Amino acid sequence: MKIAVVGTGYVGLVVGACLAENGNNVACVDRDAAKIDMLRAGRMPIYEPGLEEIVRRNHEEERLAFTTDLPAAVQDSDIVFIAVGTPQGEDGSADLQHVLAVAHEIGRSLTKYTVIVDKSTVPVGTAARVKAAIAAETTQPFSVVSNPEFLKQGAAIEDFMKPDRVVIGSDDERSAALMKEMYGPFTRTGAPIMMMDTASAELSKYAANSILATRISFMNEIANVCELVGADVDQVRRAIGSDRRIGNSFLFPGVGYGGSCFPKDVKALVRSARDKGYEFRILEAVESVNDSQKLKLVCKMQEHFGDLKGRTIALWGLAFKPRTDDMREAPAISIVNRLLELGAGVRAYDPEAADTARRLFGDRIALCEKSYDALNGADALAVVTEWNEFREPDFKRIKQLLKTPVVFDGRNIYSPGHMRALGFTYFSIGR
Ligand code: NAD
Repeated sequence: MKIAVVGTGYVGLVVGACLAENGNNVACVDRDAAKIDMLRAGRMPIYEPGLEEIVRRNHEEERLAFTTDLPAAVQDSDIVFIAVGTPQGEDGSADLQHVLAVAHEIGRSLTKYTVIVDKSTVPVGTAARVKAAIAAETTQPFSVVSNPEFLKQGAAIEDFMKPDRVVIGSDDERSAALMKEMYGPFTRTGAPIMMMDTASAELSKYAANSILATRISFMNEIANVCELVGADVDQVRRAIGSDRRIGNSFLFPGVGYGGSCFPKDVKALVRSARDKGYEFRILEAVESVNDSQKLKLVCKMQEHFGDLKGRTIALWGLAFKPRTDDMREAPAISIVNRLLELGAGVRAYDPEAADTARRLFGDRIALCEKSYDALNGADALAVVTEWNEFREPDFKRIKQLLKTPVVFDGRNIYSPGHMRALGFTYFSIGR
């Protein structure tokens, strides 16, 4: 099939590359000419494991092209994905300006029947608005389909190639058949393609992210209670996770959720409900718990050191989660800002997010090339993102490099007993 993907970001580039990998001809479109030039030159604008190889191979084999020319890409395609950002607007709602601008541009470019797919995460009613925007520009026939994306950054290729399910909201047979055909190769292992109305498809994405965010905030509160009553959240997690009705995933407490999706999607669902006169009380609490959890480690540092003025904290991990360079809404941002406000210095290391951090913090923090460099002369180490390389470090070396052997483990990756036996003063979450 001939496919255009408009928006070549964390989602669009993965979608485009994976569709090309299965033999389709794909044009990835972006208005950011620097990004398109980079991709044409064989360089990656983002870090996502495995993506570079698929992009390079399909680009070389001429199934994957990069362009800023939206009209040409649309005219040449049977299916056009809209995968641009839907950031948080000032009132918490999803800002649809990019989606609607692209819809108008697509409308102006249509020359034949085309299926337009909302891949961006968008509130209920957006498929209808996209349809109206396109119809305002053209008399050509077209269909609008809602197809929310459930991939996770850090495992995006695997998630897209082998999805748990594909959700398609469509109100006509022609577009539904084309979408089923396109997703056929991705669902051979039996993953269901779930056909539904567009409103249900649109809401499914917000419901999925919101329940995951709820689990995280719930476990963070359980961890906080564990600390007060002397229980161990690891034991509690194992005990509840083995109940099949609950399951083991997303039960890890930590420094709160971040990223480009959970925070904005939770806010957008609260806002959509409020617009209809409904207060989504659980989600309001989920958000407020998350805001305090992001500063949990700094509170622990204050309890231990007292005044943090003049202290230096080494941070391991800045990205909002491992295996990505993305720092959007990362807990590390709240932690760094708070530490700087309190007069502490920060020496930080992240395997992939250093460039992003440099753009965010400039020279307000020291960004180190190697993990152990961050420890040089620091008063304590704080683990903020659970990259694999932090899991089995050289503890002797850590102890030698730190001024005092104090570790704040925001991801519970070390064992409290082991750390104490090694002579560390060790703090973690809920243990
Ligand atoms: P992103 O910011 O990484 O990428 C968006 C891209 O769209 C950018 O490259 C931008 O230049 C481009 N763009 C914006 N306006 C444009 C226009 N008018 N014409 C052409 N290109 C334009 O965003 P993302 O993380 O890929 O997210 C995209 C959407 O997918 C969002 O709605 C998000 O909520 C959703 N989503 C994201 C993830 C994720 O893990 N990042 C997962 C599932 C769904």
